[in-house]
Amino acid sequence: MSDAPVLGKFPSDLVRYGEALKSRIFPRLQITRLSQLSRRAKIKHSQLIFSLDCDTPDDTECVSEVDRRLRDLGLTPTYAVPGEDLAAGAATYQRLSSGGAHFLNHGGRSHTMFDRRTGRFVSSYFYDTLSVDEIKADIVLGHRTVREVLGTSPTGFRTPHFGTFSGRQQLKLLHEILCELDYQFSSSSLPWLGLRNGPVFRSPTGIVEFPVSGRSGRPSTVLDTWSVWGSPFPSLSGDAFMAELEHYCQLGETMPLLLNIYGDPSHVVHRDEFFIALKRVVSVFHPTTFSALLASK
Ligand SMILES: [Zn+2]
Repeated sequence: MSDAPVLGKFPSDLVRYGEALKSRIFPRLQITRLSQLSRRAKIKHSQLIFSLDCDTPDDTECVSEVDRRLRDLGLTPTYAVPGEDLAAGAATYQRLSSGGAHFLNHGGRSHTMFDRRTGRFVSSYFYDTLSVDEIKADIVLGHRTVREVLGTSPTGFRTPHFGTFSGRQQLKLLHEILCELDYQFSSSSLPWLGLRNGPVFRSPTGIVEFPVSGRSGRPSTVLDTWSVWGSPFPSLSGDAFMAELEHYCQLGETMPLLLNIYGDPSHVVHRDEFFIALKRVVSVFHPTTFSALLASK
């Protein structure tokens, strides 16, 4: 996507709060604006990018089954797997890669740990607690591990726990590091940035950023499977999640939108209703990938 709009700078963090406020009051207006920004990025019809973060051994265990079901729907998933987890599940991920799945660099170190008290995996290793050198070292480690395990060099990146590292200066730093490492794109930003800059845009460093999508009824809030089936305190019910997808289908039929949704394999593997809803989504949103969009004219 050589013609992705170039933006002079990332908006200030104050803009983020403005978008969140508008998102509560005028969700439909924001979706309309998102569609206008999609058109500006030469998105002429509704398209879907679906990616999966595989942060735990539970994800590795079920990812092949999830991949099979997504393939049946005509989707080519993109996987974000931390280097240590990629190496631990090398045989599984090598099979997926040979089958044509795409992989992002998702950092080198694992960023979850098992909490024996609760019996759950909890998040760890946040970039906003690291020095610039430590962040760079983790990105380089992630890159090296993808190359060693899969034999290909990743050109796209997703920050571990990107919601905690998506301020203006943080994204600027991330893009500078990715530019130094010759990366092409990142999907490491929250929906509010998409509402402001569009669902795909090129930053001054040349890195193309794909903010993840928000909810149709509150476009600045992330639409992901964690909020439904992963969090100990879900903010969305399963039915509400399905209703979101159905609402997007209705919107996507009337205006071009780029949906960039992500989830975790272990959240959806036993959810038949999720795959049924996704089938409806791909009947409206043409399945694509980050790389395919980048390659498109
Ligand atoms: Zn992750």
